[in-house]
Amino acid sequence: MLEKLSSMGLLTVEDILFHFPLRYQNKTRISAIGELQEGMDAVVRGTIRVSGIARGRRPTLLVKVDDGTGLITLRFFHFRRAQAQQLTVGETITLFGQPRFIAGQPEFAHPEYQLGDHDAVLEDSLSPVYPVVEGVGQSTMRNVTRQALTYLANDPPEDLLKGLIKNAPSIADAIAILHRPPADTDIKQILEGRHPGQLRLATEELIAHQISLLSRRAKILKKPTAKVTGNGALAKKLTASLPFDLTGAQKNVCDDILNDLKRSSPMLRLLQGDVGSGKTLVAAISAVHVVESGHQVALMAPTELLSEQHHRVFDGWFGPLGINVVWLTGQIKGKARREALTSIEDGQADIVIGTHALFQDQVAFNSLGLVLVDEQHRFGVNQRLSLTQRGLDDFTPHQLTMTATPIPRTLSMVAYADLDCSVIDELPPGRKPITTVLIDASRRQQVIDRVGAACRQGRQAYWVCPLIEESDALEANAAEVTAEQLASALPDLRIGLLHGRVSGALKAEIMADFAANNLDILVATTVIEVGVDVPNASMMIIENAERFGLAQLHQLRGRVGRGAVESHCLLIYQGPLSHTARERLSVMKASQDGFVIAEKDLKIRGPGEVLGTRQTGVSSFRVARLPEHEHLLDEAFDIAQRLTSQDTETAENIALRWTRAREAFAHV
Ligand code: ADP
Ligand code: MG
Repeated sequence: MLEKLSSMGLLTVEDILFHFPLRYQNKTRISAIGELQEGMDAVVRGTIRVSGIARGRRPTLLVKVDDGTGLITLRFFHFRRAQAQQLTVGETITLFGQPRFIAGQPEFAHPEYQLGDHDAVLEDSLSPVYPVVEGVGQSTMRNVTRQALTYLANDPPEDLLKGLIKNAPSIADAIAILHRPPADTDIKQILEGRHPGQLRLATEELIAHQISLLSRRAKILKKPTAKVTGNGALAKKLTASLPFDLTGAQKNVCDDILNDLKRSSPMLRLLQGDVGSGKTLVAAISAVHVVESGHQVALMAPTELLSEQHHRVFDGWFGPLGINVVWLTGQIKGKARREALTSIEDGQADIVIGTHALFQDQVAFNSLGLVLVDEQHRFGVNQRLSLTQRGLDDFTPHQLTMTATPIPRTLSMVAYADLDCSVIDELPPGRKPITTVLIDASRRQQVIDRVGAACRQGRQAYWVCPLIEESDALEANAAEVTAEQLASALPDLRIGLLHGRVSGALKAEIMADFAANNLDILVATTVIEVGVDVPNASMMIIENAERFGLAQLHQLRGRVGRGAVESHCLLIYQGPLSHTARERLSVMKASQDGFVIAEKDLKIRGPGEVLGTRQTGVSSFRVARLPEHEHLLDEAFDIAQRLTSQDTETAENIALRWTRAREAFAHV
């Protein structure tokens, strides 16, 4: 047990006390179906109204239960015939499970149940559910925490925020209530993260997070780096070779970056800019400064497809300047791989472009001066943090992280507190607004005709197939079918097909074909979602647009509207639309501004969903939640800053208390 607990970072009684439940099971009473909440296990009781087997790819037993306040669906993917017969219409049933909400309707998958109205399932207090690793059960965790809690009264953890925050419950009370909320606790308050004990601990956790980012930053800034000393001649040559001028925003950002690069401490900068704002060029200009000073540059993209495009574009820009661009992804094998690795090692490769494969152990850079990370939101925060550790011990590369995902200011303060931030708040000139229309699926044939006609006049179109989250294969299949349909409806046009199952080399070839205007229509899955840039493409058709999230639709639409001709985005939807789907689509129609869309997204999807993502590292918080705890941030940041500069010992202790277990856990 000791071994297992220590693999979870639980080495001391204090570690255990700070290992908080993920959620709670409420078996203390029967809940009304109408009051069920996501994330809260509950007991409900009602009458079976519908029971039957849905025949499909896989037969599913579907049962609907009604308790007068609402209806809940039960789904059994595995069931015995006897079970199906037992669950008959009119029977009373008592159920226990964790509801999921699908299109606003609660569902239980494989709930525990008993026919009739036995009360045997009810318990006295809320049961905590802990994060665990394999081999450690909930009953063990409850036992271990129960023992740890007995130390709490006489030997509470040190109050590290003493005198720093006001009106908060004691740390011992806060801890106790989170581990064992008494049955009379205001459950709703706890579920919503508003309990004073939670606020006390959340503040401390946010402070801890902030302290660790600040101290990481301070450590990195002390390291020697690849100071840029050139006169900028290469960058001038590069910009002179372009058919356009930099936008004002691009120039400003390039200045910020050059100032950083000339310092003797590493750059730590985040570059935010909406889709199509021209981040790639800023990355390229930063890169040539570093190459000019005799160092190497690595550019990491989230997908092979995007890394291939960057390779093509950078080669076009840098080839004439005599800069050697090398491409390295997981799919490059054998001799080509060995050659690439050698050139990286002996310094022949000036710029290395690839996916996260770039930061695998076999890749040894000769003199890595700058790491560029594109579309950072696709990588986890830990991946980003690990990059800076890749430099040699006595030498840390500059780091520029790029993202198109607009996130609220407070959240970016949490996620990127260790980075300086630059924003490209201007699109290149001459961009025409994209006309977005919503089209009912019954008019799909008209869309095909319209796209056909446009392509015959030299336009190019993306045709994005429905998102099928559960299955890569089904998604690929749907794309194949669509490509065939379009090919037979539009036999005179050249149609390409791209999906996750197309091999890497072929993907690159198809993309290059489309970029070179050798294809009229590119039928694709969401593999083209990020970064793809083909300015001549001016039509984006998205099928089953109602299935996509707002951020995703915005990214996809951002693939067009990049050239001189007017662009169109046709969102084909399958009615009837749910309320939120209708809202999403009308936001898309009404706005093209990434920040506006992000804010609406936040409103529509509600707290938690948008921000509880990997990208921010926020999902690994134990008590703190965003945006629910947004109002704690200012104070937390203040305290973190003060402690970091004035009381490093307390700062370190706070950070350790909250990060030790988390880091251990991240590696399990
Ligand atoms: P993103 O910020 O989404 O990564 P890209 O870097 O892919 O955007 O740029 C989008 C398109 O805009 C590219 O075709 C690029 O060549 C072009 N572009 C970039 N900067 C300018 C500019 N200053 N003027 C005109 N076009 C530009
Ligand atoms: Mg980009």
